[in-house]
Amino acid sequence: MRLDKYLANAGIGSRSEVKNMIRKKRITVEGGIVTDPKSRVSPDDEILLDGGSVVLESEIHIMLNKPAGVISSTEKGPTPTVIDLIDHPQKDQLFPVGRLDKDTTGLLLITNDGKLAHELLSPRSKIGKTYVAELESEVTEGDISQLETGIPLKDFTTAPAIAKKLSSHEVELTITEGKFHQVKRMFHHLGNEVTALHRISFGDLMLDEHLAAGSYRRLRENEIKLIK
Ligand code: URA
Repeated sequence: MRLDKYLANAGIGSRSEVKNMIRKKRITVEGGIVTDPKSRVSPDDEILLDGGSVVLESEIHIMLNKPAGVISSTEKGPTPTVIDLIDHPQKDQLFPVGRLDKDTTGLLLITNDGKLAHELLSPRSKIGKTYVAELESEVTEGDISQLETGIPLKDFTTAPAIAKKLSSHEVELTITEGKFHQVKRMFHHLGNEVTALHRISFGDLMLDEHLAAGSYRRLRENEIKLIK
């Protein structure tokens, strides 16, 4: 990575500010002053500003309460993405772990840890994801037992889910797969429609109920352990 990019990513200043620091010989790489902002550095190099080390955060784990209206993507386009909501100097390394639909709200993990994301999303991991679904029509006990048996969708039959009827039009549903529009398709099969979908947990990690829609925070050490 270019030295100026590294320094800016580490959050010590904007690209032009860090270029100034470099020109003023305030930066050393592996013990030597470097004056070219374009020189290449690696995260293993010892990089100092005025003698103090400048480090990139190696693993970033963020819990976002995704609001409706943003997409779970890193691609810049006309629609705001979940990454647009995050203020972090290493923002361009961040991505969401999996996807929630544009209108789905709730727990979304944001990280720069590709290995962890890969493991969490692997179908072999069978991690339970819990949603609260609001439904257009009343939910029957028959619906609950079908959800708990498995729903034959066009491309696959869902594994037995855990389904709890919270009220006449509201179900808490835990599924272990994560196929496209899965929860909506499961209820559609039952002749019902999801009118709102909110994810409250991912494995043992629970959405912090103090996080307003659109807000985020770092995972705490004990929470990171729950997903690793
Ligand atoms: N199932 C859906 O239908 N949508 C989501 O966003 C997540 C699960």
